[in-house]
Amino acid sequence: MENSLDFDDAMLEPDWADKLDSSAIEKAVREMLVAFGEDPEREGLQRTPLRVARMYAELLAGYRTDPDAIVNGAIFNVKYDEMVIVRDIEFYSLCEHHMLPFMGRAHVAYIPNGQVLGLSKIPRIVDMFARRLQVQERMTRQVADFLSDLLKPQGVAVVVEAMHLCSMMRGVKKHDARMTTSAMHGAFRANLATRQEFLDNISRGATTLKI
Ligand SMILES: [Zn+2]
Repeated sequence: MENSLDFDDAMLEPDWADKLDSSAIEKAVREMLVAFGEDPEREGLQRTPLRVARMYAELLAGYRTDPDAIVNGAIFNVKYDEMVIVRDIEFYSLCEHHMLPFMGRAHVAYIPNGQVLGLSKIPRIVDMFARRLQVQERMTRQVADFLSDLLKPQGVAVVVEAMHLCSMMRGVKKHDARMTTSAMHGAFRANLATRQEFLDNISRGATTLKI
C-alpha cells in the first residue's frame, strides 16, 4: 500500500538495499513495536519497519564509505606550511550506547608537511566517521588519525562539540548533554602556541551549541 505522503523515500541512497540487511532490520523493528505494546499493523506503523531500515542505511552509511574514493585525486603537493583550519563542520552521529543522535560541530586543523587535502574533503571525512555507531571521543580520534596517516602532516588537531540526546531526552545528567572532545597530534601537542592559535581561531565568533 503506497502512501503518497511518504516523503522519507526520497532520502534513499539508490543502492542501500545491496549493502544493508534491510529485512533483518525490518523484522527486528516489527518485534520492537510489538514489545512496546503497539500494533505494527495499524495504519501509521505499517511501513515504519521499512522506513527505519532505510533510515539506518543512510545514518550508518559511514561503514560503507570508501575512504580512498573520498580523497581520490584531492591530495596536492605544495610548499605551504601554515596552519589549515576548517571549522564549524556540522555533523550528526548515533551514540553506540543508546542509538540516539548526538550532533554538533567539528573543527579540524593541520599543518602540512608537503601535502594538502582539498578543503571540501574534510567535512566528508568527518561524515564518514560520524555516520556510524559512535562515541564522541573515538570519532574525534578517528578523524585526527585518518588525517595523520593520510597526509603525514607536522600536526593535526580535531575538536568536536556535540549535544547528546540520550542525556537530554532521558532527563538524567543534563549537565553532560553538551560535550567537547579533542585530539592533538604532532605540533599541536608539542607546541603550546600552535595549539593556542587553533583554539583561539575556533572560539572567535563562536556561538553556543543549540538544537
Ligand atoms: Zn548515549
